[in-house]
Amino acid sequence: MNGEEHTASYYAATRNNQTTYPQLEGEHETDICIIGGGFTGVACALTLAERGHSVTIVEQNRISWGASGRNGGQLIHGLSGTKHLSKHLSWDKIRQLNYRGNEIIKDRVEKYGIDCDLKSGYIEVALKKSHMEGIKQDYDEHVEQGLGEHLRLVDEGEVGELLGTDAYMGGLMNDLNGHLHPLNLCTGEAAAAAKLGATIFEQTEVTGITHGTQASIQTTTGNIVANKVLIAGNAYHRLEPGKLSGLVFPAGSYIIATEPLSDEIVNKINPQDLAVCDLSNVLDYYRLSADNRMLYGGRCNYSGKVPSSIKESMRPRMLDVYPDLADARIDYEWGGNIGIVIKRVPLLGRVSDNVFYSMGYSGHGIAPTHIAAEIMADAMEGNTEVLDAYEKIKHWRIPGSQWFGNQIVALGMLYFRAIDLSPL
Ligand SMILES: Cc1cc2nc3c(=O)[nH]c(=O)nc-3n(C[C@H](O)[C@H](O)[C@H](O)COP(=O)(O)OP(=O)(O)OC[C@H]3O[C@@H](n4cnc5c(N)ncnc54)[C@H](O)[C@@H]3O)c2cc1C
Repeated sequence: MNGEEHTASYYAATRNNQTTYPQLEGEHETDICIIGGGFTGVACALTLAERGHSVTIVEQNRISWGASGRNGGQLIHGLSGTKHLSKHLSWDKIRQLNYRGNEIIKDRVEKYGIDCDLKSGYIEVALKKSHMEGIKQDYDEHVEQGLGEHLRLVDEGEVGELLGTDAYMGGLMNDLNGHLHPLNLCTGEAAAAAKLGATIFEQTEVTGITHGTQASIQTTTGNIVANKVLIAGNAYHRLEPGKLSGLVFPAGSYIIATEPLSDEIVNKINPQDLAVCDLSNVLDYYRLSADNRMLYGGRCNYSGKVPSSIKESMRPRMLDVYPDLADARIDYEWGGNIGIVIKRVPLLGRVSDNVFYSMGYSGHGIAPTHIAAEIMADAMEGNTEVLDAYEKIKHWRIPGSQWFGNQIVALGMLYFRAIDLSPL
C-alpha cells in the first residue's frame, strides 16, 4: 500500500489540489511524530501546531488517502460507546465532548478558509418501530441538555415530503450536524498545519518503532527521532502487533455517485439538502454533493469480501429508496476500510509512556476523529484525564483478525443483519 495515489472517487476528481509533500530522505528530528495522514493524524497535528509544538506527519500514500478521503461526508456528532466510557468518566465531561468534533471542524473551516462544501442539515431516519423509540430517546436527551431548538422529530408524512420516498416511518432532524467534502477538509487542515510549521512527509511508510525516552521511527526511506509518537493508521496499519493486533477489524464500506441530477429531481428527493442516515446496524447513508450528484453509500454484502462490482451491488439499494434514479448514470464507485472495534468504543491509549494510539471509530469518524485528536493532543501535553478513562475500558481481542478480519467482520455483519431484519 506504500506510495499509492488517491482512489478514483468523486472526491479525488473534485479535490481543491493535489498534495505534493516530499518523501522523507535520511534522518529527521521532531518533538511529536504522527503516523498516518487521515483526520486523526492531521487534526491532531493541527491542534499541536496551533499550540506551538514541533510536529511531523508521516503518511505512506497521500494526505487523506484512507477512509478520511473516501467517506460519505456525513458530519455527525458524538463518540460511540459512551456507556462504557461513563464507567470511568463523568456524564458531564462526556456531554462536553459530544459536539466538540463539529465545533472544531466549523471553527477551522472558518478560521483557515477551507473550501470543503460544509453545509448544516442532517436527518436520521427510522425503518422500524424500535428505531422510532431510539430517535425519541435521543431527542429527549438533547432537550434535557438544552439543545432542543436544533432538533425536530418528523413523522412519516413529513419525512416523505423531505426525502421524496415512502421508505421511512419518521426521523430526527438536527441542524448541528451536516455534510462536507472530506478530502478537501483533510487536505485543508494539513495545509493549515504546514503553514504553522508542521512538517509533512508523503509516500513514506513507517515500518517499525524502537521505544525509548526518545522513540526511533523507521520508514522505508529514512529514520525519525521523536519525543512522542501518535499511531493514527486506523484500519490500514499493522504497527505494534504485540499490543494492537486483533483489536480493530478492517471492514469495507462503499459509495456510488450518480451524474449531477436535474433541479426537478433534487427538489423532489432532497430539497433541504440534508445528509441522511438510516438507523440499521449495517446502515445506508446518502446525500447530495455540491454539484447535485447522489452519493449513496453502505454495505455491499454480508460476506465481508470486496464486491466484484460496487456499482452492481449498491445501485439496487439506492433504487429501493429512489426508483426515480433508475436512469441516472453512475459516474463514480469506490470503497474504503473502516476500523471496527467489537465494543464499538474507539481505541485510545498508549503502547508505552511516549507512544500513543487512536483508532477504531467503527464507521463513524469525521467528528469523532477530531474529538479524539484533541484528547490525544491534551494527553501528549500531560492532561490525560480522558485518555486515562479510555485506557480503563477492557477490549476483546481476536488473535490474527487484523489479517483475517474479513471473515470475522462477515460473522459480525450477519449477526447485525439478523437484528436489522427483525420487524420490531
Ligand atoms: C466508505 C466510507 C464511508 C464513511 N462514511 C462516513 C461518514 O459519512 N461519516 C463519518 O463520520 N465517518 C464515515 N466513515 C468513517 C471515517 O471516514 C473514518 O472513521 C475516519 O476517516 C478515520 O480517520 P483516520 O485518520 O483514523 O483513518 P484513515 O483516514 O484511514 O487514515 C489512516 C492513514 O494512515 C496511513 N497509514 C497507515 N499505516 C501507515 C504506516 N505504517 N505508515 C504511514 N502511514 C500509514 C494510511 O495510508 C491512511 O492514510 C466512512 C468510512 C468509509 C471507508
